[in-house]
Amino acid sequence: MTPLRIDHITRRYLPSHPAAVDALSLQVQPQEVFAIVGPSGCGKTTTLRIIAGFERPDAGSVWIGDRLVEGDGVHVPAEKRHIGIVFQDYALFPHLDVVHNVMFGLHQMPRRNRKARALELLEMVGLTGMGDRKPQQLSGGQQQRVALARSIAPMPKFILLDEPFSNLDPALRAETRHQVKQVLKEMKITALLVTHDQEEALSFADRIGVMRDGKLLQVGTPQQVYNHPASAFVANFLGRTNLFNAEATGEHAATPMGEMCLSCPAKGPVLLSVRPEHLRIAPPHPDEPLGTVVSREFKGHDVTLKVCFGDRQVLVHTDYTCPYQVGQSVSVLHAEPAVVVTGDV
Ligand code: ATP
Repeated sequence: MTPLRIDHITRRYLPSHPAAVDALSLQVQPQEVFAIVGPSGCGKTTTLRIIAGFERPDAGSVWIGDRLVEGDGVHVPAEKRHIGIVFQDYALFPHLDVVHNVMFGLHQMPRRNRKARALELLEMVGLTGMGDRKPQQLSGGQQQRVALARSIAPMPKFILLDEPFSNLDPALRAETRHQVKQVLKEMKITALLVTHDQEEALSFADRIGVMRDGKLLQVGTPQQVYNHPASAFVANFLGRTNLFNAEATGEHAATPMGEMCLSCPAKGPVLLSVRPEHLRIAPPHPDEPLGTVVSREFKGHDVTLKVCFGDRQVLVHTDYTCPYQVGQSVSVLHAEPAVVVTGDV
């Protein structure tokens, strides 16, 4: 059974404005972690609020498992949808200790069993022995794991994660993400994450949907969407990329760095996306166009070079050993085919 199905939901806040969510459809598969990722204002929160039951759509329907919770005149209130929700700001009760915060999620369980179950859940999220602390005596990552324990306590079939890691510093964010994903997988919980952070979506989710202007532009595994963006917007939103207008001749196209293979055959004018990490820097080669390094960005673990071919600039990621300096002549080789994309940047 599909844990979540959204069918053509639309929400327009003001008649004169474009719809915040525009005929959006989506199915999340059992035990899947799905991320909706998109820029600020694209409609992520509105989508999440409609699924949770905090907001009513103007049209469309929402199914949780085999139950219609929204649409066709039906509106099941949020508290009756049996969905777990983890918010960005943890939303823990500051006056309760950790174990009582988790027990709050167990109010349907007989009182005598609650504490033991809460302690079990704390163990599951890696917080054994911290039950008697107050939330403010924990780090941000630990507080977020308490919030997770509380929301999974009633054993929801489905959990919504609303930018849950964005208040954490980068190191803690990666670690907390990893731990949360492990718990979701161990407990076989289906989850929908909304985030504006492309790295988070790519590393956390089994599948992602890139959202813009109330619509999902592309859905697929992180690898599919990152490596084969269907539009210039998706290519740019998920990371740095080089976009070139080129003339395709079937399997190949001419680019500023020379002839490149294409990810799929095409003829005529095309827009190509080439990730900087799919390019290699090499000593000047007589058979390849000659470029000049115009900038060098050192980032510790790697180096990004900007290489100029006439009036075109190309970004190339290289490893930390890269010897090339600004002003030097180089060739740029390609490790992967160029991806044919559509749409404006
Ligand atoms: P962010 O990442 O900044 O939270 P978002 O992708 O979650 O953005 P939403 O909060 O869903 O986007 O907003 C989508 C659009 O709807 C935006 O243009 C926003 O200004 C508008 N909007 C959201 N809530 C309301 C409201 N209550 N009344 C009017 N317009 C709203």
